[in-house]
Amino acid sequence: MSEALAKFMEKIKAKDPDQPEFHQAVYEVAESLMPFIEANPKYKKANILERMVEPERVIMFRVPWVDDKGEIHVNRAYRVQMNSAIGPYKGGMRFHRNVTLGTLKFLAFEQVFKNALTTLPMGGGKGGSDFDPIGKSEGEVMRFCQSLMMELYRHLGPNTDVPAGDIGVGAREIGFMFGAYKKIVNEWTGVFTGKGRNWGGSRIRPEATGFGVVYFAEEMLKTRGDSMEGKIVAISGFGNVAWGATRKSNDLGAKVVTLSGPDGYIYDPDGVKGEKIDFMLEMRASNRDKVQDYADKFGVQFFPGKRPWEVKADVYMPCAIQNELDINDAKNIVNNGGICVSEGANMPSTPEAVNLFIQNKLLYAPGKASNAGGVSVSGLEMTQNAMHIYWTSEEVDKQLQIIMKAIHEQCVEHGTKDGYTNYVNGSNIAGFIKVADSMIEQGPLS
Ligand code: GLU
Repeated sequence: MSEALAKFMEKIKAKDPDQPEFHQAVYEVAESLMPFIEANPKYKKANILERMVEPERVIMFRVPWVDDKGEIHVNRAYRVQMNSAIGPYKGGMRFHRNVTLGTLKFLAFEQVFKNALTTLPMGGGKGGSDFDPIGKSEGEVMRFCQSLMMELYRHLGPNTDVPAGDIGVGAREIGFMFGAYKKIVNEWTGVFTGKGRNWGGSRIRPEATGFGVVYFAEEMLKTRGDSMEGKIVAISGFGNVAWGATRKSNDLGAKVVTLSGPDGYIYDPDGVKGEKIDFMLEMRASNRDKVQDYADKFGVQFFPGKRPWEVKADVYMPCAIQNELDINDAKNIVNNGGICVSEGANMPSTPEAVNLFIQNKLLYAPGKASNAGGVSVSGLEMTQNAMHIYWTSEEVDKQLQIIMKAIHEQCVEHGTKDGYTNYVNGSNIAGFIKVADSMIEQGPLS
């Protein structure tokens, strides 16, 4: 580690010692950027990186809500408005028992770079709560969402901050939050994305993140004269991202052999296809958070407490949660001859795992590049809302493919050295240039 990088990280850690995920996300970006900033003194002179790691604003508030028995609970919620240099704050809301301010700062920081890569005018933000939706009734979830919006509404707006879904927040929760927002401000406006089809939601938004992960893998494989056709794919998670990635992998002639949940993973040698893909939606709707249900229904093997990275495959798509793939998993992937890792989750691989992929010259894409399809279609949803029109599925899917290609091109342009594309460096540098230049042009107050 260079002296400049060590000093920079020391400061970040001293300021917020209890935010390890944020440190991890910043370190990965700073490591890519330090040599670039050294070579381009205008960024150093403007102290840009130090400015970018500090959120423009953090809102923290209590969310009291009443359960079905009439008991009152309280959760803590946040919105991290990280950077608005290139557009309104944009990023999802996460409801998960482990959510802390540090989690949301890491996600908001990643989002700034991701959104810059999409080519669309969106700044970065993220929000959420330590509310655990597992096992809660629909009424409880609704009352929680409504209570949360009683505070959050005043910080949002179609040109200010536009949230969306993330882990624990799907169309249902967005419906409750959007409904509350509309009631309070007495205005129909595109202030959330991921909305229902009948009320402003874009076609392809539910599929977009997973589709994008596969389009990105296809682009990476293309650089080696290869494609998804005939590939064996190991996927983790069974939620929205895993569902879209499974569908598109099937479309492109690949076979998905694993899915996972917090309880373990399933191995389906015949491939997750047809009605089995639809069953993923049922598992999610059941609110049990268990993938074993798939094994019970279709009679395939279930490996309790294990992760799918021990399975031999060609392409790996971690689509569950941060740090779900560590150095031992990465060793398994390399030893099993894996050629491509396209991340669907945000920061699913630990830094040691990422280094091993790069040392072994795998086609490895960090989430901020490969999972940007979701927020890209969110951007297209904002455009449709602003224009009061709807595009067809074909139109949106076509735009999504164009955007994923453009992200891939930016990574290749900024991350290729001696014939190998380091997508981590490429995505960090390309995203940084766009945001940093905008901040410099807008003056030192930004
Ligand atoms: N939560 C998604 C992400 O991590 C989507 C955000 C959005 O659509 O605003 O990018």
